[in-house]
Amino acid sequence: MKDCLFCKIINGDIPSEKVYEDEEILAFKDIQPAAPIHILVIPKKHIDSLANIEEDDEKIIGKIYMVINKIAEDQQFKDKGYRVIVNCGKDGGQEVMHLHFHLLAGKPLGEKIVG
Ligand code: 5GP
Ligand code: ZN
Repeated sequence: MKDCLFCKIINGDIPSEKVYEDEEILAFKDIQPAAPIHILVIPKKHIDSLANIEEDDEKIIGKIYMVINKIAEDQQFKDKGYRVIVNCGKDGGQEVMHLHFHLLAGKPLGEKIVG
């Protein structure tokens, strides 16, 4: 989608440090890491927010979690643990309106918000 930052990263108009890519999913390093490992995992299809997923998107969202586990395994932090966060909408703190999963790891992640 025109004027979407992450679509521009997908099509290469904006450079990124890619971690994983296939025909449906891209993972790249967050520009302002909140942990030693901070990766954004996104569908290549433009979906603006978790709030607006459709029935057809079920499969890609499941696949994103599989990719997250593959990255955790490849980068050898699967055993130590990691955190996955999706910010949704204004109160959720979402700034980029292209669905993305924050994958955080590499240190004890501190305060839990839930649980
Ligand atoms: P949100 O706040 O929408 O959940 O997360 C957006 C994330 O995108 C932030 O963690 C921010 O650091 C990251 N980000 C914003 N602009 C860029 C960019 O141009 N390149 C990369 N790699 N990450 C970005
Ligand atoms: Zn987009």
